[in-house]
Amino acid sequence: TKWVYSFGDGSAEGSAADRNLLGGKGANLAEMCSLGLPVPPGFTITTEFCTWHYANGRAYPDELKQQVTAALVGIGEITGRSFGDPSNLLLVSVRSGARASMPGMMDTVLNLGLNDETVDAMARESGDARFAYDSYRRFIQMYSDVVLGVDHGYFEEILEDEKAGLGVELDTEITADQWQQVIQLYKDKVEEELGQPFPQDPNEQLWGAIGAVFSSWMNHRATTYRRLHDIPASWGTAVNVQAMVFGNMGDTSATGVAFTRNPSTGEKQLYGEFLVNAQGEDVVAGIRTPQNLTEAARIEAGSDKPSMEKVMPEAYAAFVAVADRLEQHYRDMQDLEFTIERGKLWMLQTRSGKRTAKAALKIAVDMAAEGLISTEEAVLRIDPASLDQLLHPTIDPKAERNIIGMGLPASPGAATGEIVFSSDEAEEMRAQNRKAILVRIETSPEDIHGMHAAEGILTTRGGMTSHAAVVARGMGKPCVSGAGTLRVDYRNATLTAMGQVFRKGDIITIDGASGQVLKGTVPMLQPELSGDFASIMEWADAARRMKVRANAETPADARMARSFGAEGIGLCRTEHMFFDDERIVAVREMILSDAEADRRAALAKLLPMQRSDFAELFEIMAGLPVTIRLLDPPLHEFLPKSDEEIDEVARGMNISADKLRQRTEALHEFNPMLGHRGCRLAVSYPEIAEMQARAIFEAAIDAGQSTGKPIVPEIMVPLVGLLKELDYVKARIDEVAQAVMAERGVQLDYLVGTMIELPRAAIRAHVIAEAAEFFSFGTNDLTQTTFGISRDDASSFLETYRQKGIIEKDPFISLDIDGVGELVRMAAEKGRTARPDIKLGICGEHGGDPSSITFCEEVGLDYVSCSPFRVPIARLAAAQAAI
Ligand code: PEP
Ligand code: MG
Repeated sequence: TKWVYSFGDGSAEGSAADRNLLGGKGANLAEMCSLGLPVPPGFTITTEFCTWHYANGRAYPDELKQQVTAALVGIGEITGRSFGDPSNLLLVSVRSGARASMPGMMDTVLNLGLNDETVDAMARESGDARFAYDSYRRFIQMYSDVVLGVDHGYFEEILEDEKAGLGVELDTEITADQWQQVIQLYKDKVEEELGQPFPQDPNEQLWGAIGAVFSSWMNHRATTYRRLHDIPASWGTAVNVQAMVFGNMGDTSATGVAFTRNPSTGEKQLYGEFLVNAQGEDVVAGIRTPQNLTEAARIEAGSDKPSMEKVMPEAYAAFVAVADRLEQHYRDMQDLEFTIERGKLWMLQTRSGKRTAKAALKIAVDMAAEGLISTEEAVLRIDPASLDQLLHPTIDPKAERNIIGMGLPASPGAATGEIVFSSDEAEEMRAQNRKAILVRIETSPEDIHGMHAAEGILTTRGGMTSHAAVVARGMGKPCVSGAGTLRVDYRNATLTAMGQVFRKGDIITIDGASGQVLKGTVPMLQPELSGDFASIMEWADAARRMKVRANAETPADARMARSFGAEGIGLCRTEHMFFDDERIVAVREMILSDAEADRRAALAKLLPMQRSDFAELFEIMAGLPVTIRLLDPPLHEFLPKSDEEIDEVARGMNISADKLRQRTEALHEFNPMLGHRGCRLAVSYPEIAEMQARAIFEAAIDAGQSTGKPIVPEIMVPLVGLLKELDYVKARIDEVAQAVMAERGVQLDYLVGTMIELPRAAIRAHVIAEAAEFFSFGTNDLTQTTFGISRDDASSFLETYRQKGIIEKDPFISLDIDGVGELVRMAAEKGRTARPDIKLGICGEHGGDPSSITFCEEVGLDYVSCSPFRVPIARLAAAQAAI
């Protein structure tokens, strides 16, 4: 097997295309070599070997050893040197390099091959003893830390003591003799810690370093990083061994890092820093303050340290030329590492640079304008999930932060407002045009109106999937959840934080991106939806096939959805319209009535309210499709709970509180999510569906007349499992339609469809499609019922499942393509067989999740529907799926 790939002197056995085999670093080193750029010669041990090595008891077969030896000879031929030979010294660096860059892994060992003998040779040959001993002490320090596991703190202490004793501040002031003393102390320390001397044999050093890289693939930091970034362990890491070049050979040598464009703003300007007479790790370690690369950046930063442009004009010019060449070649912003050895430039790394969401947009749009990439490629360059950062106000990074507590970053964006402790207070504030932050121990469905009215939500209990977190994300409201160090006292209306007591009306700010809770107002940056963002969205819209709708029921959400580019409403959850103070009483009367006649009387009160709700939605959506779902949740969710509420409803219904309590108890269910909900309500109480259908039809006619655009309402029946359920409810809807048309003397087109959110519905989709004119996949319930796990409670053990590798992602966040997805695929196919023009969409949370959207494109759905703030994300993800 070929396990070792060489590069150097203008040619390479691999290329950038071999990223999986050679890792990112190795593949790009090979590519740069083939481009004729100055790269120190070297070789890469493949990721395939890493995998083999772990599968075979961590063995190093002779075959590998032979290939490594041969490759070392190859480096020697190019450099005219020989590894381990004091008379003609070749030193190497050893670096890890996985497919994806992994900051948690072992990184680098430099100056490998030095020992007590070769260091003297190096001093003689370079004519610079200081440089040689400086390199050796660096090597002992790095190798001991990274390969031998001796804490680098020991070495820092020794060096600090030595510097203090000598009365010097900078490493560069230490002389060759003094470094020799440090080296002795370092070696003593290693022997003391390990019980054996620092290894002197260059070959032993080399295999030690190679082994350390492969071991680091399974270290704790690396496995954690892989889990967080969905990187499979089977990818393995590569090892790169390369001839050393030296940035610490005096004042004509240097080392630096650079981005070809500004990674935080995206501006087209070389951006980076360098250090004279230093090796790579000095820049990162922050021991000396690095200098700017360009004069322009130096002036802007007001630095008095000269720029590279000034002190090394020739090397600088060479570097600029290489940076340009690499950006043109890779057609993306590059992150570069380089070394200048006695005036000569060497490239050590190039890769696509990490950037902020804002910079990503600017770079993609600029590069398209420069003709470097197509508009479709620009669309592909943006991570849809990163748009979340851009759609909300954020705290000005320059602002001072007076932090009073810390919770989970549950929903992005920052918000400032007066503290309120109840949802009703939040609404009152809103009515007075004041901004409120709703502060609760936790929230429940009864807080929806307060969450809507507040600028942001802060809870002291609950995780990332708590009610507050999920609902806030859906609404696009900033939320910090589970801020456990804060104390909320409802009785006294106080919030205690770090010994300070805050009362209702005191101003706080929450930062849903970081989880911070701050005192007072803080300067914010407003989202920028024009400019680069608008360009990318326009190009995305041109590229996508699927439509993007929003899940929305309030006029505010519907307007927001349209401003974000929604092309209709895919789910209006009518129950959310029932929690309003005025309505809830009528809703409760309706639910708690024993007799149909009483129910109808209560429903009659709700009719005009629902009608005007729907009319407003239709008007805002101006002819775009609107899907309205009939009442779905189990009725007891609406029931009065406190004695006060029970009394109020009992009075309204003219019955005793006790009678009401009995009725409430009768409605109790052990398993409400599998209970009397969805279309089952419409079967038991068709008058509810009839009222809603009437409100929809009357509103559609009214809005059609007022806007001049015919409205074709889409009525959606939830939780259907049997064709006959749908038949029954549809017959009621059709009757109402006929009646309303006759009363109003107009014709109205409408669609009746169903949600597919039960496995039985998916299995019988071809039959259900006989009655359903559209399907909308309710993947929240479909996930719940397919897995048989509760969407409200599962997060507690799903996290354990994730940690133990049983599931990769929470199936309520990212669609389980193999299981739930298979049901979706099958139902879509069966539905189309029975009704070729059936409209297919998705309205579960997954409709706003990029990887789930890719799947929806594959299955050929007509649209995805998601919460308003996710609409831009969905537009971009749908485009990427179609390209
Ligand atoms: C669903 O189940 O996926 C759905 C959209 O409905 P709800 O979340 O309201 O149950
Ligand atoms: Mg559902």
